[in-house]
Amino acid sequence: MRAAVYRTFGGAITVETLPRPVCPADGVVLEVKATGVCRSDWHGWKGHDSDIVQHGLPMVPGHELAGCVAEVGEGVRSLKVGDRVAVPFILSCGGCRECARARPTICERQEQPGFTRFGSFAQFVALPRADRNLCLIPDGVSFVEAAALGCRTTTAYRAIVQRGRLTPRESVAVFGCGGLGLSAVMVAAAQREEEPEGEAARRIIAIDVNPGARLKALELGATVCPPPPHDIFSLTPPPSPPPVPGYPRQRTHV
Ligand SMILES: [Zn+2]
Ligand SMILES: [Zn+2]
Repeated sequence: MRAAVYRTFGGAITVETLPRPVCPADGVVLEVKATGVCRSDWHGWKGHDSDIVQHGLPMVPGHELAGCVAEVGEGVRSLKVGDRVAVPFILSCGGCRECARARPTICERQEQPGFTRFGSFAQFVALPRADRNLCLIPDGVSFVEAAALGCRTTTAYRAIVQRGRLTPRESVAVFGCGGLGLSAVMVAAAQREEEPEGEAARRIIAIDVNPGARLKALELGATVCPPPPHDIFSLTPPPSPPPVPGYPRQRTHV
């Protein structure tokens, strides 16, 4: 198969012919149909990631992917050849302390394509733990859309919905409108659309020095997108409940 490979940190990335990966007993071989390029790929290539250092070079990068199942391991029950699937960045184990606490993204024995094993800048990629981690893509969702879900969108969803617990009347400011920031804008906008008419008082404020990024944020659901210099505090409603004395509530509100 053809794959992009680097053999030294920060060195040339070349397209080479490599052996097609062997299918894990608990996993699949996926034919890659779409893959994203993430800042984490850059960090890995620069030698900043201990998992890649531990794995050793060469490495095939790429961890934001979607594709078709080309081969199925004997232990896999939920997938068959031809299935369209999306893949999370973290392939969790299901048996460690963090997985038991429903926190699979910090699994203690996680596998990551492009970091602990060869990734998706290739025609085929081998993925273990398939029953637990891979998700079927619904009709109407393209491979390109699905490839963005496993890293940037899950990170943004965790921040906005699970950790931030944004209520219908709270505003949110997103600093930096790259892939991750634009995903946060989309998650906030999707959540806003679910509110009954008149309830969605929320502002989605997108901040970026790049005019193109600000335009994209508006296109994807941002309601306010001021050019720099930004006066963020003037764009948010008064804080509620009243600020704790000595604690600058209005600054934490954004
Ligand atoms: Zn990523
Ligand atoms: Zn685990």
